[in-house]
Amino acid sequence: MRRIGLIGGMSFESTLVYYKLVNEMVRDRLGGLASADLLLHSVNFEEVVALQKAGRWDLAADHLATSAKALKAAGADCVLICTNTMHLVAGEVQAAVDIPLIHIIDETAQALTAAGLKRPLLLATRYTMEHGFYAERMMSLGIDIVVPEEADRADMHEIIFGELCAGKVVTGSRTRALAMIERARASGADSVILGCTEICLLLDPRTLPLPCIDSTTVHAMAAVEFALADAEGKRQAA
Ligand code: GLU
Repeated sequence: MRRIGLIGGMSFESTLVYYKLVNEMVRDRLGGLASADLLLHSVNFEEVVALQKAGRWDLAADHLATSAKALKAAGADCVLICTNTMHLVAGEVQAAVDIPLIHIIDETAQALTAAGLKRPLLLATRYTMEHGFYAERMMSLGIDIVVPEEADRADMHEIIFGELCAGKVVTGSRTRALAMIERARASGADSVILGCTEICLLLDPRTLPLPCIDSTTVHAMAAVEFALADAEGKRQAA
């Protein structure tokens, strides 16, 4: 099995989800008490948030690139940045290491395409919804995303940082998020992207009024595919 390297802690609430999903998927695939071979570097999120607020994406890139190099030095065979927002600096992080960076936007786009979905509503942080890096990469992969109106973007950003990253799941916020999805459906969206790795703590993709791709789940699945590519080949050959 190849070793997965996770850059987590952004926030640790979603890193817990990654840790559980990756291990459960490996156990389901290999059976018995199998679990993932993984390394986690969990950063201090407060420091990253300060860099985000200051617009110092250059320093944030250095921070995560250092983390990726440490994971590689410790034996990781791939690296995942366990947040959509910080994929704003994915290029710099990938350039720092010669192991693959499994990209959350690419995996999400692939899942949408496989399901025949083309016009998803993106629910995410302001950075992800507004900075262009997400929409542009999606567009290059044939997906035309829809973002909520300004008031809904502000609300979703506050739900993520004020509640979900702080370990709070609030029923009223779930109701408002569902209303955002209804509005998007009425204006032509065919699906929803949970484009922040904590939103799966608030919304259950199986119960939404539109088909849904959860970025945390598809990213974890891609890590497991990578990790088991050799292991399962060997099992079949045996
Ligand atoms: N985990 C979130 C995301 O997927 C937000 C935290 C962050 O700003 O990195 O975007």
